[in-house]
Amino acid sequence: MNVEPLGKIYDIQGFSVQDGPGVRTTVFLKGCPLRCPWCHSPESQRFETELNWMSIRCLGLESCGLCLDACPHGCISRGESTVNAVGEPIAYPSVDKSQCDECGKCATACKATALYMCGSDMTIAEVMRRLTRDKPFFDTSGGGVTVSGGECLSQPEFTTELLRQCKAAGIHTAVDTTGFVPWSVVLRVMPLTDLFLYDLKCMDSELHKQVIGTPNELILDNARKIGESGGKLWIRIPTLPMFNDSEAHFQRYGEFLAAIRDAVVMVQLLPYHKMGLSKYDRLLTRKPVFVAEPPSDAVMEARKSQLESLGLPVRIH
Ligand code: SF4
Ligand code: SF4
Repeated sequence: MNVEPLGKIYDIQGFSVQDGPGVRTTVFLKGCPLRCPWCHSPESQRFETELNWMSIRCLGLESCGLCLDACPHGCISRGESTVNAVGEPIAYPSVDKSQCDECGKCATACKATALYMCGSDMTIAEVMRRLTRDKPFFDTSGGGVTVSGGECLSQPEFTTELLRQCKAAGIHTAVDTTGFVPWSVVLRVMPLTDLFLYDLKCMDSELHKQVIGTPNELILDNARKIGESGGKLWIRIPTLPMFNDSEAHFQRYGEFLAAIRDAVVMVQLLPYHKMGLSKYDRLLTRKPVFVAEPPSDAVMEARKSQLESLGLPVRIH
């Protein structure tokens, strides 16, 4: 008996125009082998379902406080008084994540969904029901489905089957990947993937390892092999001062990409921004450790021109 794979999913977003061509619906899978310090989706990093808390939804302990008695491990207590978004005094719960087993009882108790569990197990059929609803938008815009993360190829069974069913339904497919996965997994999804959205975060392997936690050889090898095997690549370069935004570093990007020029349909430069920082508060444990300034417009334009001079199609996000 075949058991249908389950995906650990933390979001499905419709009407995306950032995750490939046309209007797309993006399925975000949980779990990632990399740890980019600037990650704007920190809730995607762990593979497990985890407790989150959103202060803007919280009614405060004086008005509500339903969570205080909900935790069987005594993880929730009264936090210090502070002010809410409109400057009124308020006391929020304080959650001690060191004892939390992510049981979700506090999230069930919280009627305002300020406490909520991020990540749920979904079947292919459940996800497909959601995706096929948007097919008319895909058909009229040249869009489709993007499977993203986290690292969606870290859940290869689910992602492969999801892509297979999208193709069977006549839906354009894109896989948004870090590339830090075995080549055998890429090979499996390649016939089912119209486009790879592919992150190239840093061309220097030592620096990649130092900052992100992994070397980059596998990532570069996989990109090269996709290009040489007829796959299409939409390259994404998160561009960060003091990390990868120098002319010399972009020279290395250019040389690498020019060698697989025919496979590259777009190079998208993503200037670092701080808009995701607030998400770290929701995780109740981890805090942002990376607070660089965004690169200037002049630097972004210069790097765009540098790659364009090599015949590459480039866009600044
Ligand atoms: S139950 Fe939810 S809304 Fe109420 S105080 Fe706790 S976190 Fe806030
Ligand atoms: S999810 Fe964590 S904090 Fe919430 S009730 Fe369970 S153990 Fe307590």
